[in-house]
Amino acid sequence: MFTIPDISPRERAEETASKLRHIYPESEIQTYLPLIEEINQLKKAKNTLILGHNYMRPEVLHGISDVVGDSYALAKAASKANQDIILFNGVYFMTESAKILNPQKKVLIADPSAGCSLADGITPEDVRRLKQEHPGAPVVTYINSSAAVKAESDVVCTSSNALKIVSALSEEKIIFIPDRFLAANIAMITSKTIIPFQADCEVHRQFTAENVDQARSRFPGLAVLAHPECSTEVTVKADFTGSTSAMIEWIENHPEEKRMLLLTECSMGINILAQTGDREFLGPCQLCPYMQKITLEKIRDTLFFERNEVFVDEEIRVKALRSLNRMLELA
Ligand code: SF4
Repeated sequence: MFTIPDISPRERAEETASKLRHIYPESEIQTYLPLIEEINQLKKAKNTLILGHNYMRPEVLHGISDVVGDSYALAKAASKANQDIILFNGVYFMTESAKILNPQKKVLIADPSAGCSLADGITPEDVRRLKQEHPGAPVVTYINSSAAVKAESDVVCTSSNALKIVSALSEEKIIFIPDRFLAANIAMITSKTIIPFQADCEVHRQFTAENVDQARSRFPGLAVLAHPECSTEVTVKADFTGSTSAMIEWIENHPEEKRMLLLTECSMGINILAQTGDREFLGPCQLCPYMQKITLEKIRDTLFFERNEVFVDEEIRVKALRSLNRMLELA
């Protein structure tokens, strides 16, 4: 996670332009700058915190975000926000987490139809059925899930603390939902019995072991980084597996690695390139169709009209908060 220093809207537009020049033609940049300045002025006028997930379009991430990071880092930033409005540029389940953690704030999303195949792949009924089928097994739920599913769970986890949470529980049999690939990656490194669910991320499931083999044979010495939402066939071949924030940290700590295969949503590589200007990311460019729904135009209109407010039923919120707080205790 990183926080962007508070500078004037005009300075911010200029700073953004210098980053976007690494990735966009000048004509395209010039179409974004007036909107970026307008949003940054609205942000100040309306005392708003703008959060940006690592998978956002570069003009959104670099142009208007106050805090940038993965879903967990942004949830923490949302919980500490003292502004009147939190405008969360990510997908819907992330905005719910912000509302769960900081219910007094007005939480907005630029496009409420920005879902997630993983979060939408499981229902609270599915969780209740799993609990009936495996009595006594605690439910560990990945943060990429709806508020209603978190409310049915014992503890939430992230891709970076999942192993720690599973290990901290006293039970030997754990229901781990909803991501079948994250569950399989954890099952590989724990002696506990992991009961998975069958949802997955439609972006990360597309990466294959062949992608890694082909890239390595073409570029010997290539560094391969994979997200744990990829299949185990992929992660066993990677040099490093971790959350988006962990991958960014790895890249920052390895300045000598100029060319990498980054097996995660494509915008992240583009955003790092905008930031550093000297890295090359290979591999199939898989974009998340839901993250791509968040555009500068929609953000400007959402903030101007203060529309698309996110609400979470209070009973669900209190139960989901308990699962989130349990994660903080165990991790
Ligand atoms: S990249 Fe995958 S997990 Fe992330 S929002 Fe898109 S579909 Fe969901």
